[in-house]
Parts: sequence; structure tokens; C-alpha cells
Amino acid sequence: MAQYKIATIGSHSALQILKGAKDEGFETICVCLKGREKPYESFKVADKIIIVDDYQGFFDVQDQLIKEKAIIIPHASFIAYLGPEKVEGFKVPYFGNKKILDWESDRNMERKWLGAAGLKMPMIFKNPEDIDRPVITKFHGAHGGAGYFVAKDLKDWKQKMKAYKGEQDYVIQEYIMGVPCYIHYFYSSLTGEIELLGFDKRYESNVDSLGRISARDQIALPKIDPSYVIVGNIPIVVRESLLPEIFKMGENVVKESQKICPPGLFGPFCLETIITPNQEIITFEISARIVAGTNPYIDGSPYTALRYKEPMSTGRRIAREIKLAIKQDKLNKVLG
Ligand code: AMP
Ligand code: AMP
Repeated sequence: MAQYKIATIGSHSALQILKGAKDEGFETICVCLKGREKPYESFKVADKIIIVDDYQGFFDVQDQLIKEKAIIIPHASFIAYLGPEKVEGFKVPYFGNKKILDWESDRNMERKWLGAAGLKMPMIFKNPEDIDRPVITKFHGAHGGAGYFVAKDLKDWKQKMKAYKGEQDYVIQEYIMGVPCYIHYFYSSLTGEIELLGFDKRYESNVDSLGRISARDQIALPKIDPSYVIVGNIPIVVRESLLPEIFKMGENVVKESQKICPPGLFGPFCLETIITPNQEIITFEISARIVAGTNPYIDGSPYTALRYKEPMSTGRRIAREIKLAIKQDKLNKVLG
């Protein structure tokens, strides 16, 4: 095992991934855009930092990473910087099932998958004229919550769409009233077991600041539309009676993935949900990899504390899975 190294791109959850890998005994490599290296130096999580000038640089260092026997751990910034269509061709051994990316990045395929797994999802309005309730409109390629808008009815939607003239590629979803809750799972293809690692909610600008302005002032101000730009993550512990359903949801998503995209989804993944006052858990998206909402738990979450004797982050859980695969001579089972 000693010869394998864990590598990732410096952003998103890299601190956690690299720290977790070191805790499991791996040497680590951080590939960093020039100017972004400070945190990885300061927190001493990377044994080696490779600096690249631009996004193309990530492709240029592939041979070096392969020579170092690096295993790359993908995260949202990795996918965003490389581009989802180019990840498939990235030659460095990759933790996870790359084929699942097609299912996750296409909203129609994603919906088919989650629907077949029995998850409840927001209604979609294919034809805007059918809008009969508050909706949220999401443009294709919107990341990190930028490029969404909320409309209270059809008239409001038409008015707001004027700012997006020419845009064709968007989805109109029913706006679910409730609290957002991001569920962090880990499925081990080695043990066949699903683990619940934690929960978070996002801290989004400006929607999370609107409550700081009174309704009277909001109306008086010229124009405040909520935006959902992610700036951080906040831990949550959920009502315990919700847990049985939450486990079932994760299990069903994995089972369905094994049918549609063998060998299926494994490693960390996240269901992005809104929980309503009726305690319905409505899923609006899946992330088939580590999410940054696990970052508050570098020293373990209340849930991993129940299961593990040592502080277990999602990053460390990934490294442990790779370590187990190496020990059992099953590395090909966890690399995509
Ligand atoms: P960054 O590396 O911070 O510029 O982020 C690149 C992409 O990764 C963003 O467009 C987001 O899609 C995603 N991302 C980064 N940080 C987070 C976060 N805390 N929560 C959710 N998505 C994130
Ligand atoms: P996303 O970038 O897809 O994770 O979504 C960003 C934020 O938009 C979420 O954290 C929610 O606050 C909000 N959101 C997305 N979809 C819906 C929905 N159907 N109903 C209500 N809020 C939503």
C-alpha cells in the first residue's frame, strides 16, 4: 500500500480529503492552480504540491501523477475545472464510477434514476403555461446555486424570464417550502453496506440574509431577488425518527444505480433534499461524490462518532476504503 498516493485538486474538500488520506497512512499530492496553494501549505496536508498555471495544466500533469502511483479523488471543483465531458478521458486512476457522471449531469436521466429509486421529487413544469404555484427556474450549467430564480406565479415568471432572453436550456421546478437538508452517505462496494456520515445545510448568498431585512424594508428596497450562491456549509443533526427513511432512500438509490449503470454508485454521495412541515423528504438533486457539506466534519460527525472509534471524516472514509481494497487485492473494484 505504501507506494500508492492520494491526489486531488486544491479546492472544495481537498483539505479534508488529503488530511483523511494522511490519517490512513497515505502520502498525498495536491494539484493546485497558481495562487491557490497557501491553504495546502499552511495546513500541512499535502506531501507534495504541484502547481499548474491554468485548467489545461491538470491534463498536463497526468503522466507525472501516474508515475507517482497517484489515485485521484474527484470533487465538484475537479469536475467543474476539467469539464464533465473530459473527466472520462482523464487517465489517472480515479476513485468512483465515472459512468455515473452521465446519469448525474443530465437532469432528465437523473430524474429517471431517482424516480425509479422511489424518491419523492419536486414537480417539473415542461410547459410554462402550466405554472400554477411558486417555482424555481434553474439554467443548465448553473453551479453552486448561481443562475436560479424564484417566481410566485406565471405572470411573475414571464416577467423575470425577460432577463434571460434567448436562454433555452432550463428546468422549471415546483418551489418546495421547507428546510434544505443535504444527506451525506457512503456506500462500500467491498462490504455492501450503506453508511450515514452526516448532514449539512448550505449558507447561501443572498437568500440566507433576506431574513435579516424586515418585510417592510424588503418591499421598500428597489429589487431584491433571492440568489443561492454557496459560500459555506452548516452542520445539522436531524430528528431521529427521520433516520429509517433516510437510510432506505440511500439504499434504494444505490440499488437502482446498479441496474442502470453497473457496477453502480459507490463511495460518498449526497441527496440534496428539502424537508417539508409534513416531514416529507423531497429530493431535488444527487451528487455522486464527496460534497463540501462534509467539511465541518473533518474531525468526524455525530454520526461517525457512533460508528467509529476514531475521528472519521468522509475524506478519511474514502482513504480507508482504498486501503481495504489494496489489502484485499480488489483495487479495481473501487477505481472507475
Ligand atoms: P470553487 O473551486 O470554490 O471555485 O468551486 C468550483 C465549483 O465547485 C463551484 O462552481 C461549485 O459548483 C462547487 N462547489 C465549491 N464549493 C462548494 C460548496 N461548499 N458546496 C457546494 N458546491 C461547491
Ligand atoms: P443546488 O445548487 O441545486 O444545490 O440548489 C441551491 C439551492 O436552491 C438549494 O440549497 C435550495 O435552497 C434551493 N432549491 C433548489 N431546488 C429547490 C426546490 N425545488 N425548491 C426549493 N428550493 C430549492
